[in-house]
Amino acid sequence: MRGVVLPGDRRTEIRDFAVPEPGHGQVLVRIHASSICGSDLRAIYRPTEQGTGPEAYRGVIAGHEPAGQVEAVGPGVTRFAPGDRVVVYHIAGCGLCHDCRSGWMISCSSPERAAYGWQRDGGHAAYLLAEERTLVDLPEPLTFLDGAMVACGLGTAYAACRRVDLSGRDHVLVTGLGPVGIGTALLAQRLGAHVTGVEAVPERRELAASLGIAVSEATDEALADRTAGRGFDAAVECSGNGEARVLALRWARPWGRVAFVGEGGSVHFDVSPLVIHPQLTVMGSWVCSIGQMEELVELLVRWDLHPEIMVTDQFALEDADAAYRLADAGRAGKVAIVP
Ligand SMILES: [Zn+2]
Ligand SMILES: [Zn+2]
Repeated sequence: MRGVVLPGDRRTEIRDFAVPEPGHGQVLVRIHASSICGSDLRAIYRPTEQGTGPEAYRGVIAGHEPAGQVEAVGPGVTRFAPGDRVVVYHIAGCGLCHDCRSGWMISCSSPERAAYGWQRDGGHAAYLLAEERTLVDLPEPLTFLDGAMVACGLGTAYAACRRVDLSGRDHVLVTGLGPVGIGTALLAQRLGAHVTGVEAVPERRELAASLGIAVSEATDEALADRTAGRGFDAAVECSGNGEARVLALRWARPWGRVAFVGEGGSVHFDVSPLVIHPQLTVMGSWVCSIGQMEELVELLVRWDLHPEIMVTDQFALEDADAAYRLADAGRAGKVAIVP
């Protein structure tokens, strides 16, 4: 089978791989959709040097947002069977540490921890060898593209909404309307919150608005207007941009909650006026637990929400180079590879 490898420096390579055989506790998943994440671009595709820790890329088949159908199962697999539709939670943790036992395989610190598309083969190929414990059932009528959205980006958005405990009492500011920000806004609406989004890129503002998200200018005047001068009950920062991080803190009202989700970069702000005196709760939120992912697919069905609506472009595996170029330009919605 063919698989996409990302050697860095904005290059893609398509190489031949053997179709893997599932061992004990493993399944072979036939991939139907494998989308591109901002982390793929920031930590693997653009850099000339490999990252470290959980962001070390080991030259494997890329793609950590896979969804597909179980093709074959190895010995000891009990819950999933050939034909089952699945989302792959993209980190296989050790299964034994406290983080793994509570479903947060993302936070596993065992040397055995391996993320698909980073340290072990990922979804940009016809098949993926997965651990059964990393599979989440993908119920009808969700599509495989919906499943790929859930595998990282929308799961991340959902965990952030849970982390700041959004409800119908809240007016939430979402800074950065890339795929994670749009996902956060869509989920926040379903949770009953009033949502205002801000975004610097015009194409992304248009996409968000077309999906029913209220988009504001990122000026003090416009945000004061949106909140009757009071500020927001909560803010979810999805851009990773320093100015947007400060904007989220500045526009949270006293006792507000702010989650930093957008990765990378740094920020500088005056702590007393922005965080201490307004009594803010500021938190980091990284991906989601596998339990939250199961919750999310159930809720998507109940809410009749198909997150594939944020996919603007689909490419065949052979066109991975064009897919990554487009995603890297930062103007599209979600970009997906469909083998
Ligand atoms: Zn990701
Ligand atoms: Zn672990």
